[in-house]
Amino acid sequence: MKRTVAFSRDAVNVFFHILTGCNLRCRHCYINPDQHGRNQLPIDVIENWLGAFSGKAGAANVIFLGGEPTLHPELAAAVRRARALGYQSVTIDTNGYLFNDILDRVTPAEVDYFSFSLDGATRRTNDEIRGEGVYDTCLSGIRKARARGFEVSLIYTVSALNIHELESMAPILADLGVERFFIQVIGIRGKSAEGSHHLQVPRERWLSVVPPVAERIADMGITVTYPKVFLAPDEPFLCAGLCAENYFIFPNGRVYRCPLCEDFPYHALAFEADRLVSTPRLNESDFFQLRIPEGCVMNRLVQPDNLAYGEDGRPLYQIACCMLKEEVLKG
Ligand code: SF4
Ligand code: SF4
Repeated sequence: MKRTVAFSRDAVNVFFHILTGCNLRCRHCYINPDQHGRNQLPIDVIENWLGAFSGKAGAANVIFLGGEPTLHPELAAAVRRARALGYQSVTIDTNGYLFNDILDRVTPAEVDYFSFSLDGATRRTNDEIRGEGVYDTCLSGIRKARARGFEVSLIYTVSALNIHELESMAPILADLGVERFFIQVIGIRGKSAEGSHHLQVPRERWLSVVPPVAERIADMGITVTYPKVFLAPDEPFLCAGLCAENYFIFPNGRVYRCPLCEDFPYHALAFEADRLVSTPRLNESDFFQLRIPEGCVMNRLVQPDNLAYGEDGRPLYQIACCMLKEEVLKG
């Protein structure tokens, strides 16, 4: 069963980058220290900032990320604070290195998912993108997490470098006992923006590979999520910046509503003295209001390579909000 995951104001999703430091140097890393800071947030600041969202209407979910969030020595305390504040789910995104004995310091009752990143079905392809030795470390980390009773999801960022191995992930996911598989698309942000547009996957290849592979993996009982990217002619365009509650927090205090804005000082919100405040205009909120025939305004501005036009100058299709997902469930 396939369904488009509609944006919802009933849930608040907090993507909390608690530091930007990382032991890896992945080729497509979107972290941009000039824009996101180089610091690691003290635990009291993390706790205060978590509190700014927990009281919002509806349920709140938090995803701790970095950098590599397990490098933060007080990640376990941050997890417990999120629980105490009433967050309905807590996820830790990790590159698999699981520093600071994090599996010993939190429990499956406290962490809903450890979400591991792997960018190739083979050691060669993954390590070409993420660094030598990462494939083996990540798989070993997944096995350790599963052995401790944690639920595990896996994120695979599709680019021209690894789309040919997406299908080969199926037996690996089954063998590891992964419950959810998130397929992402390479964004032209952070390091990817440094002249690496060749990483992007053409529309035809995306459409011919990703949806059918997602169906096949879902048939194995694994829930698969992937970004919609290209809207069909009859599908309405919606901007999550206007109709959803997503917050992307960085350790320098910037809070974005749109991931595509993260390479620019266009954040709509910021923490100042631990208070969440609106930033002066112009900021990303002003872009969300604009309507263009190409769909997403920020996509048109920062990664227009995925657009195509007819002879009459009209776009042939719309690009969806980068946060609009297809979810494929078994059955
Ligand atoms: S593990 Fe994540 S934060 Fe670290 S370099 Fe890779 S993409 Fe960037
Ligand atoms: S990706 Fe585009 S559509 Fe989505 S929030 Fe950003 S500007 Fe809006």
